[in-house]
Amino acid sequence: MTLDELNASLVRPPFPKLSGNIYCIGRNYVDHVKELQNEIPEEPVVFLKSPASLRPLHSDALACATESFHHEIELVIMVKHHIKMSEKADISAIGAITLGIDLTRRTLQNELKAKGLPWTLAKSFAGAGLLHSFQTFPKDAPDIEFSLSVNGEERQRGHSKDMVFDFRRILNFLLKYQDLYPGDIIYTGTPAGVAAFKKGDSFQVVSKLLNIDAKGVL
Ligand code: MG
Repeated sequence: MTLDELNASLVRPPFPKLSGNIYCIGRNYVDHVKELQNEIPEEPVVFLKSPASLRPLHSDALACATESFHHEIELVIMVKHHIKMSEKADISAIGAITLGIDLTRRTLQNELKAKGLPWTLAKSFAGAGLLHSFQTFPKDAPDIEFSLSVNGEERQRGHSKDMVFDFRRILNFLLKYQDLYPGDIIYTGTPAGVAAFKKGDSFQVVSKLLNIDAKGVL
């Protein structure tokens, strides 16, 4: 899908339009770090998805469907305005938020990790970045709870207060290396419970605080 098509489906004024920059944070919830037998990072683990990987949650989202994937439900924040590298960001820099699924080819990722090669093709393919439409960021909320169910069974439940690196620290870490632009989005990591997810599975993503309760079929 083009960015114009994605913006028409996912973003309403006054939120910025998607810029096409998509940052993702790995290993940001301790229980998930442990389930994949990774080490808790000392600074955020950052990787990218291409804009060609984005799809609205409700669409027939998965274009690349010959294998089983892992689901990773995540809070996805959007940058409100241009922030230069020399500046500091606080949560007022967040223009909107939503739920997304960081769809992962886990077997391929493990093979690439073992070889010391980039994970890109395990994380960036058509349908790898599923997104609900963006919502107002609840800047005064101490915690945002969110969950994912697959085929009627709850698989993942997370709380933003459990993130190893909170929103502000993620923004300021990214700002060490580049400017941030309006409409840049950041997948902020997944809690425990990642598991197999395949074409035809039905799913539901919920966050009461964000007014999100949406169903889809992979
Ligand atoms: Mg992830």
